[in-house]
Amino acid sequence: MAAETLLKAGASVDLYDAMPSLGRKFLLAGRGGLNLTHSEPLPAFLERYGPEAEAVRPWIETLPPEAIRAWATDLGIETFIGTSGRIFPTDFKAAPLLRAWLTRLRGLGLRTHTRHRWTGQADGGALTFETPNGSIVARGDAVLLALGGASWPHLGSDGAWTPFLPTPIAPLRPFNCGWQINWSDVLTQKAGSPLKTVALSAGTQRVRGEVILTAYGLEGSALYALSHSLAPGATLSVDLLPDHDERLVLEKLAQRGSASLGSFLKKSFRLSPAAIALLNEGGRVPGWDAPAALARRLKALPLVLTGPRPIAEAISSAGGVQFNGLTPGLMLAERPGWFVAGEMLDWAAPTGGYLLNACLASGVVAARGMLALISPRPPG
Ligand SMILES: Cc1cc2nc3c(=O)[nH]c(=O)nc-3n(C[C@H](O)[C@H](O)[C@H](O)COP(=O)(O)OP(=O)(O)OC[C@H]3O[C@@H](n4cnc5c(N)ncnc54)[C@H](O)[C@@H]3O)c2cc1C
Repeated sequence: MAAETLLKAGASVDLYDAMPSLGRKFLLAGRGGLNLTHSEPLPAFLERYGPEAEAVRPWIETLPPEAIRAWATDLGIETFIGTSGRIFPTDFKAAPLLRAWLTRLRGLGLRTHTRHRWTGQADGGALTFETPNGSIVARGDAVLLALGGASWPHLGSDGAWTPFLPTPIAPLRPFNCGWQINWSDVLTQKAGSPLKTVALSAGTQRVRGEVILTAYGLEGSALYALSHSLAPGATLSVDLLPDHDERLVLEKLAQRGSASLGSFLKKSFRLSPAAIALLNEGGRVPGWDAPAALARRLKALPLVLTGPRPIAEAISSAGGVQFNGLTPGLMLAERPGWFVAGEMLDWAAPTGGYLLNACLASGVVAARGMLALISPRPPG
């Protein structure tokens, strides 16, 4: 997106990437339907960026969701708003969009150089790349780094750049990821079972949605949505009956009589075997199935998160180049002429289209910063 902004302003652009082809993670995002952005109003949209919402605001105001839809349409890709408010291409594919985009960029004069890995060397303004034909040195009036975070490193963004830059960098960590929980053997056997209608709470956040029981713990979109509030040792509270208030649950439980707990819960609340197994997990202390205790447990089952899954498995990473080392145009204060954009900056958001929107928008902001540097407006 930065290249497009620069090329349209008449700049000459060379794009280097370590991988044999461009946009591999973008293509992978297409496997999940390519959620480009989200349709919710701007205040709610910005809240998704948690503590960095104000830093991200000028990006989203520069390239808001409707501008992303217009951009895709202009490339021949129609989009639609799904029932959850998420915005996708109508064919749920990334490849046609990427193809059309690269065709446009090359038509505007973009030169691409794949299998060029920046090694961190920067003598003056020059960058050294390792290529299959040995090292080459490239120089530009301005440099933009958009090296990504550290999830799915085999697609190119491996976070190896973190020691290269003279600027404050928060350690990269997994975000939008599964979390580990010390399950019993019984629960491990339920791995793969979805909990379809639950509400999860952590900190001050509550999210309704779906999670999946895995051999190591939990995974799924409702969990990702809480990412800003999750940490090792945090307690996740699971409401297994989000459509019932606790008083109603208690009233129903009082009618149990001599029925076995499992069949009663299944019949009265349509609880799945996986949800019942979860309810049993670690809870069988004396008095645990008394109606009041059980109602509390059904509405707020506590699970202690022991740690996130490895960053390589995460959908995105948090951490990265911190905003206190950047100008508003996303230039590194310590290295004038060098700009940064995308996931390598220190912001994070849940899945829902917020990641790609912020990456694309930060590309436009950085490109405008580059243009201001290399072609300052004439005085007056
Ligand atoms: C499974 C999955 C599904 C996703 N689905 C969605 C979704 O539907 N919606 C959404 O909003 N987000 C989604 N995301 C997240 C989104 O894809 C990323 O946040 C986004 O691609 C990050 O863009 P970026 O340009 O900052 O970095 P990247 O897309 O990671 O690109 C960085 C590029 O830098 C190159 N590079 C790295 N180091 C070097 C080096 N030293 N020298 C040269 N080149 C280098 C890499 O090869 C790579 O091509 C998904 C992510 C995953 C893993």
